[in-house]
Formats: sequence, structure tokens, C-alpha cells
Amino acid sequence: MKAGNAILSSYGTTIFEVMSRLSEEHGAINLGQGFPDERGPADVLEAASKALLEGWNQYPSMMGTPELRQALAAHARRFYGLDVDWKTEVMVTSGATEALTACLLGLINPGDEVVLFQPMYDSYLPIVRLAGGVPRFVNLTAPDWSFTRADLDAAFSDKTKLVLINDPLNPAAKVYDRAELDLLAEYVKRFDAYVVCDEVYEHIVFDGRPHIPLMTLPGMRERCLKIGSAGKTFSLTGWKVGYVTAAPQLLQPVAKAHQFLTFTTPPNLQAAVAYGLNKDDAYFSGLASAMQAKRDRLAAGLEAAGLEVLPSAGTYFVVADIRAFGFDGDDQAFCRWLVKEAGVTAIPVSAFYVENAPATCIRFCFSKKDEVLDAAADRLKRRFGRG
Ligand code: PMP
Ligand code: GLN
Repeated sequence: MKAGNAILSSYGTTIFEVMSRLSEEHGAINLGQGFPDERGPADVLEAASKALLEGWNQYPSMMGTPELRQALAAHARRFYGLDVDWKTEVMVTSGATEALTACLLGLINPGDEVVLFQPMYDSYLPIVRLAGGVPRFVNLTAPDWSFTRADLDAAFSDKTKLVLINDPLNPAAKVYDRAELDLLAEYVKRFDAYVVCDEVYEHIVFDGRPHIPLMTLPGMRERCLKIGSAGKTFSLTGWKVGYVTAAPQLLQPVAKAHQFLTFTTPPNLQAAVAYGLNKDDAYFSGLASAMQAKRDRLAAGLEAAGLEVLPSAGTYFVVADIRAFGFDGDDQAFCRWLVKEAGVTAIPVSAFYVENAPATCIRFCFSKKDEVLDAAADRLKRRFGRG
């Protein structure tokens, strides 16, 4: 048999799938893969169901339904003061994953350099490589996961076409502050680059911190492609409805990729997401405060079990440092051991690096029912002799 694509064949199955299957095999509590275990907002589900039964179920416009694009423009104005033309500056995709892929395939020419921050979400690098992009890594390390001017000096060059940034950052649970974003914006402008901003956790930010889209900084409106996900904003990760907001000249090449990737996204889900994005501010602040309470609950449980918990400023995740256990093995080995021996599933943070990975950090997902978080903490306490 002739070989498949060499780049894709070089990757194994994603860590999320691997750990979820291992978790099932061992009857473990799955705090690995990031998804909420509740039903999601009933009114948004109802809007989808109504649209399915009573609405249009044929191909919608490839850019997204007018209704959803208008809701996205209104959302950008309400939360970020951005003036977005719904006709030319927003596009609906089948998940943020497709949005990311369409941005990378639509903008990269072979040989273009792409600046990536490690840890990075697992789909970024394979697509950069498929597009012929040359990755340049900036390494972020615990506990502050920050970067310096020297890091950017080393990563940027005249060949830099694109930067890919995830804020809030999965798995580190970091939210970039204004000074960090200003520094990045300075380099993006100096090297005449564009930025794909993966902001799927834009509404899951804690402790009253603001989420600052890079696109809102001076001179960045025309350089950024901002990506969001209804899966995260409405706790319905299986829906796979994403969106890209960008200036027309940046969005056009991305739409060219989208038309050959998925072309469009289920119209009933688009109708429900449009409804959801128009919900009042209390929905969005309620999502952040509910997740913050879950963060606090799980962090307390992990600490009581003897794990060193790093700060979590946003996302569904909290990272723990396992050094204190003196475990003989790296984070991957520790996670495999934890599933089998403690019945709790986590994700090794090294899976988000291709080089210079830390070997001592593991990620737990707290977007779960309280009783699930408590049961996981109890199992860990018992296994580590603290229960
Ligand atoms: N980016 C990041 C950082 C994520 O955590 C996720 C969640 N799976 C995605 C993109 C993909 O989002 P979606 O499910 O909308 O494709
Ligand atoms: N974004 C999710 C996570 O980080 C997983 C999505 C997936 O399984 N591909 O856990």
C-alpha cells in the first residue's frame, strides 16, 4: 500500500482521544479532554431544535447566515467596542478548528515563517506544516508563561508572515495582559505580519480580569484574525460552530480555504448561536463565574491531595506541578499511572510542545459537575494517602 500524507502520518492519535479512551478502559473520572458534562443552556438548545424542525435545512450561505453574522458583529461591538461589518468582516466556520485551518491554509505560502507559542493547541503545527509554513517557536514556561523582547527577537524575521496566539491559553490557563500584548503588537507591526488570534475561551476569564482581543490594540485591527467558538461560549463543544472576524482583505483568502474545506455549517446550529450571542450580559458573566467556582473547587481538591496547583486565569483548565511527588518518570508516564492507579484522567502538558517540553506539568479540566470534581479529588486524596 502506498503511504498516506507524510506530514499527517508522522502524528499519532491526538492526546485527547488517547486519554479519553484510556480513561474509559480504566473506569476513571475523565478530567482530561476539555468539555463540559452538563446539558448546556436550555433556551439555546430549544432555539436549535425549533430551527431544525421549522427552519431551513439546506446549504446556508458559505459565509454564514446573515442572522448569525449580524449577531457576531453586535457581539464584537458590545464586548470589545469593535466596529465590524457583518457583510465583509465575519465568517462562520465548522468549529474554531476549521477557522484555524482556513486561516493558516488561506494565508501561508510555502516558506513563510509562522511564530507559534508553546504550549500550543495540538492542531496548530500540523496545519502550519501542511501549508508549507516554517514554524518559529517561542517557549512559555510555568508559572507565568510569559515572553520577553529577547524571545520575540529570536522568533521574528523578515520572513515572518503570521503569528498564532491563543488567549486565554490552553493548557496553561494564562490570560495575556496589556503589556504583553503591546509588546507582541510592536513586533507584528515592525515585521509587517498578521496574527491569528485563537480566542475560543474569550468568555471564560476569571477574577474580574479583562479579556483584551489583540485586534483592539492600536494598529492591529487590520492585522488580526480573531477566532471564537460557540462550543466554548455556550458549553456545547460538540456543536462545532466557530467564527472568524477580520478585515475584508484578510478574510477573503481565508474564505477561499473555507469554501473547499467545509463550505458551510449546519443552519439550525447557526440560528441557535445567533440567538445565544444576543443573550444579555448576565449570561456571559454567569458563564465566567460558574467556571471560576469550579476552578476554585477543583484547585482546592487537588491541593488537599498534595498537588501543587498553578494559577488559572481562564479556560476550562488548571495545571498542577507533580515535582513534589518525586515520581520516577515524566508527565506522560505520570498521567498513565494516574488513570490506572488513582482512577483520574489528566492530560500531560508536554503534549502541547514539540521541543523543550517541561516534564512536570499535568492539566486537569474543571468544566464538570461539582460531584464529579469532588469524586476526583477524593480519589486523588485516597491514592496519595491524604484521604
Ligand atoms: N482552540 C483551542 C485553544 C481549544 O482549546 C479548542 C477546543 N477544542 C479549539 C481551538 C477548537 O474549538 P472547536 O471545538 O470550536 O473546533
Ligand atoms: N480543546 C479540547 C482540550 O483541549 C479538546 C478538543 C479535542 O479533543 N480535540 O481538551
